[in-house]
Amino acid sequence: MTEQPKTLVELSGVAKVYGGVEVLHAIDLALRDGEFMTVLGPSGSGKTTVLRLIGGLVQPTRGKVLLDGRDISAMPINRRPFNTVFQDYALFPHMTVEANVGYGLKVRGESRARIRDRVIETLRLVALEEFAGRYPSQLSGGQQQRVALARAIICEPRLILLDEPLGALDAELRRQMQRFLKNLQREIRTTFLFVTHDQEEAVTMADRICVMNHGRIEQIGSPEEVYYRPVNEYVARFFGDNNLIDVALGEAGEEDRELVSDVGSFRCRLEGRSAVGAATRDSPGKLLVRPEAVVIGEAANGMRNRMKVRVEETGFVGPVSQVTVSAAAKPELRIMVKLPSRAGGIPLAVGDETEIGWSDRECHVVTA
Ligand code: ADP
Ligand code: MG
Repeated sequence: MTEQPKTLVELSGVAKVYGGVEVLHAIDLALRDGEFMTVLGPSGSGKTTVLRLIGGLVQPTRGKVLLDGRDISAMPINRRPFNTVFQDYALFPHMTVEANVGYGLKVRGESRARIRDRVIETLRLVALEEFAGRYPSQLSGGQQQRVALARAIICEPRLILLDEPLGALDAELRRQMQRFLKNLQREIRTTFLFVTHDQEEAVTMADRICVMNHGRIEQIGSPEEVYYRPVNEYVARFFGDNNLIDVALGEAGEEDRELVSDVGSFRCRLEGRSAVGAATRDSPGKLLVRPEAVVIGEAANGMRNRMKVRVEETGFVGPVSQVTVSAAAKPELRIMVKLPSRAGGIPLAVGDETEIGWSDRECHVVTA
């Protein structure tokens, strides 16, 4: 038997209404102790509201916020063992890095010697021990972000809440900070709840991703689950390129299911207790096949799922080459194929008639 991870914070049926508009619709979310969870969704989907409800900056209209199973809905912000890192860092401009980082401990009334030791230790964690005497204005954006982080970590919170903390950094620095944060979290093992609207950022950093849309949680899962086994079309389209083919569900086998479409009959393997496995015959659905799972030409021989196609477009995109094909039986259906690039180029030309294929393990079905 596998051990159940301990739940640190839980939102149970939490809804939030602002001026008569419900912006969060009774969500349930359990944050595991020690995990790095990212909350991902487009602007306005309710990400910041989730963070503020946990942090205690706003109160739920309905439902409860639990910490270690106890209702903390009425607990004031400063009594919650959480710390927030904001996008604009919110450092004190007139204080040195050392004073900024030590501030939380000073408020708690810790001794000067103890504060000094802890500040040095924490600045080492964020690789800023040389910068203790500087003022925020003398630091780069990335360094300021690390000061903000150090200031949050030093109080040893049970949970660190981060609301799009890397939004102000340029692309390269942002990637550096992503790796830095991820490694730091592994080292200190504190639970992180990290809000972002950037899918790549969410996928690279998270143990689990919570995908939000219009004030609802669409799916919570590991990056692989969300990418390969999205629960619905929204999530399937949200992450990277995907091919979606309209199908009707056919016979359900022991391990796979028949899918009927106007471009052929396919089979898809069902993993675990898939909702689709239980769905009734003839229900409409979408078959999802990632472009990198599609093979083309001879490689399609012997594949369980095959389709006759015409090459419409080829392109070289660095490490991958992209081929767009149309289905012979339905030219308006376009399928994207991604192949590893080879020095010889793609052995296909526009107008070629060939076949594509994919294995029954490399596809996924969602019902409409
Ligand atoms: P996100 O962080 O995903 O962009 P938010 O949680 O900030 O989304 O906002 C979700 C919705 O709630 C938005 O429609 C926003 O306009 C609304 N909202 C957020 N805060 C307030 C507030 N204090 N008063 C009124 N509406 C708000
Ligand atoms: Mg926000």
